[in-house]
Amino acid sequence: MGNLVAVIGRPNVGKSTLFNRITQSRKAIVDPVSGVTRDRHYGTADWNGKSFNIVDTGGYISGSDDVFEEQIRRQVKIALGECDKVIFVVDGTAGITDLDEMVARILRKSNRKIYLAVNKTDTPDKALYTAEFYSLGFGDFFPISAINGSGTGELLDALVMDMPNDDDSEKEKLPKITIVGRPNVGKSSFLNALMGEDRHVVTPIAGTTRDAIHTRFTSFGFDFLLVDTAGLRKKSKVKEDLEFYSVMRTISAIEDSDVCILMIDATEGFESQDMNIFSLIQKNHKGLVVLVNKWDLVEKDQHTVDVFKDAILKRTSPFKDIPILFVSAITKQRLLKALETAMEVYKNRSLRIPARKLNDYILPIIEKQPPPSMKGKYIQIKFATQLPTYYPSFAFFCNLPQYVKESYQRFLENKLREGFGFTGVPIEIYFRKK
Ligand code: GDP
Ligand code: GDP
Repeated sequence: MGNLVAVIGRPNVGKSTLFNRITQSRKAIVDPVSGVTRDRHYGTADWNGKSFNIVDTGGYISGSDDVFEEQIRRQVKIALGECDKVIFVVDGTAGITDLDEMVARILRKSNRKIYLAVNKTDTPDKALYTAEFYSLGFGDFFPISAINGSGTGELLDALVMDMPNDDDSEKEKLPKITIVGRPNVGKSSFLNALMGEDRHVVTPIAGTTRDAIHTRFTSFGFDFLLVDTAGLRKKSKVKEDLEFYSVMRTISAIEDSDVCILMIDATEGFESQDMNIFSLIQKNHKGLVVLVNKWDLVEKDQHTVDVFKDAILKRTSPFKDIPILFVSAITKQRLLKALETAMEVYKNRSLRIPARKLNDYILPIIEKQPPPSMKGKYIQIKFATQLPTYYPSFAFFCNLPQYVKESYQRFLENKLREGFGFTGVPIEIYFRKK
């Protein structure tokens, strides 16, 4: 992942329709964060084995019917700053309008690869009238119908042809770690503190894109890829735009990572926005380390650490097997410890328990404390197996899977955590009929 494509154009040309077709309205994996509904404006797509992220800038402009030129201009510029590739959508039945011209002028100056889609070309005869779109100056264009899908395959072929391959072998093997958190918690300071030590050890990986820059970190005995997020980028002047894109980059970086370092501000505590990011990490089954930064600013006694930890774990409950570290990007306290912990979590997330070992451990526990009977029926768990997913997930085979209560599921999860060490890793447990 890491390619970000923007769908740009004046209102009503069919941007959202095209967006929905390309993402095939894939079910949203995540919650709305900060008012941005991901499944409306932001999605992922796969084509010819390549995956990319796509943004519908149209859905973001408020009141599509009555948009000021200035608003569109601003949107286009921001999208250009953030995205690698642009699908410029115009309406083939309406011809070129002043607003199209205005958008085209900005796009031509951008040096970005532009894919001009002449939409609403629903039938071949309509394509006869689209020749005028050459005058926009983008050369060949794609006559498409976002509604019936004609021509969209050719557009996507061209789009992914210019994208780097997903299976870049070097990138695949290395652990991918990202630092996420609200603005101003100290993400950039943390990274600068780490990289400032020895700048030449960080090498940008060729072929990665503006959206998710992977930086290889090979200092202090570590070797992993840092997935870049909002904190490292130039900041937009407009607050809501900044929010929108920073949320998207956070989502994109989380999806792209194996382990997320969630940084919070010790002077502010665990806030609702921190909670949103935590949920994203958990729902995407990524490894997690919480860093409480700016620890140098906190007045401490012997209880402070425990009070902080308890407050955080109360929010993340029932997922409480989470490493929490108290750090300072300014005094550089425990920064390497933070990376070490992230690497441990990475290992935990890659743990594969052989079936024999798993059953030898868990079946006696189940025998000693079986699931409580329901409606007079006894639930018998016969055996368990780890499923071949990227994150730890387990299936327990039993006679009456529908009667196993959540509390018992949690009991099993805790036992698995005690037995094998899945600290920092969300795990899934399923009950299946056998
Ligand atoms: P946006 O404002 O650019 O996001 O445009 P929408 O996707 O909301 O589409 C505007 C209108 O154009 C809607 O009524 C769509 O049904 C219609 N529309 C979109 N794509 C096509 C198409 O390929 N053919 C036709 N005939 N209508 C379309
Ligand atoms: P980002 O938006 O998450 O990347 O946050 P920054 O790294 O830009 O930091 C925001 C502000 O917090 C800056 O003024 C930093 O100097 C300050 N800051 C970051 N980390 C620490 C820390 O550990 N201790 C203190 N006292 N200030 C910090």
